[in-house]
Amino acid sequence: MTSDALARPLRNLRISVTDRCNLRCAYCMPEEDYVWLPNGEILSFEEISALVDRFIALGVRKVRLTGGEPLLRRDLPKLVELLAKKPLEDLALTTNGVLLADHAKALADAGLHRVTVSLDTLKPARFVALTRRDALAKVIAGIEEASRRFAKGLKLDTVVIKGLNDDELGELLAFGARVNAEVRFIEYMDVGGATLWSREQVFSRAEILARVGDAEAIVEDSTAPAERFRLPDGRTFGIIASTTAPFCRTCDRARLTADGMFFTCLYARSGTDLKTPLRAGASPAELESLLRGVWSARTDRGAEQRLALRDQRAALFRHEELNGDPHLEMHTRGG
Ligand code: SF4
Repeated sequence: MTSDALARPLRNLRISVTDRCNLRCAYCMPEEDYVWLPNGEILSFEEISALVDRFIALGVRKVRLTGGEPLLRRDLPKLVELLAKKPLEDLALTTNGVLLADHAKALADAGLHRVTVSLDTLKPARFVALTRRDALAKVIAGIEEASRRFAKGLKLDTVVIKGLNDDELGELLAFGARVNAEVRFIEYMDVGGATLWSREQVFSRAEILARVGDAEAIVEDSTAPAERFRLPDGRTFGIIASTTAPFCRTCDRARLTADGMFFTCLYARSGTDLKTPLRAGASPAELESLLRGVWSARTDRGAEQRLALRDQRAALFRHEELNGDPHLEMHTRGG
């Protein structure tokens, strides 16, 4: 196992398979125009598979496919099939659900273990206002299909924004119970493309708990970002308090972009290019040495450093900075 400078092991790998998305959520992609990664730079499935083998050699046991919207990547089940043969404890996918009804069966057949769907509202007009696309009915159909195909581990992720959807927590929990999914409420984060972020719009962990009402904490030994809670009727839910109570101390997550950049923190300004050495014919041992060197030197505590800014905290990047380097975008590095 490979540990970083703060003794955090490398266990989790999030792979963005495309930077494209078919929604334009206000907390992630609020702009009109974006600079996309060039097609020729995007890793093939065989290249991703080869890099995952190197990450596994260093200790990774959990892989999550993300985007952008990963279901926009053609033939994604073929990648799932390649990854499902590897010694992984967990192989999961995060999607916005728009295309999920069409792909859930193929993904399950290919060996995907679990699915997480982003769902911020159940109100059609609000969905359009938040995402600039009229696709809520498709997302709901996708969640229902995933509920049939993935008996265990279906999750719904809700970014809670004050004044926007903080009045829907009860309805979202009820919907989660209906489709056999655990809901996780996520604080609005000041990462990547969140150029509209402000402290005033953060609906905090404490406010979520107060709004949900009578919930008891579930004590568990886990490095997962969500704290879990149980309601009196037995339903469970999670809170990911990345903004007000970050969990950098136990962060074991690495990120790989669709064009092969390796990032050791969601907030990192720069990453390590893996595609160039891979395409130049670097041996497995050389790639592992490169990964080990980067992870061993890792001291990232991005969210904790943001928290320390207190009143000075504002959106992390301006639109011009993001246009200058698409790797700074959350939709490029996989959220
Ligand atoms: S901010 Fe960086 S170090 Fe902290 S939990 Fe997020 S990815 Fe990990």
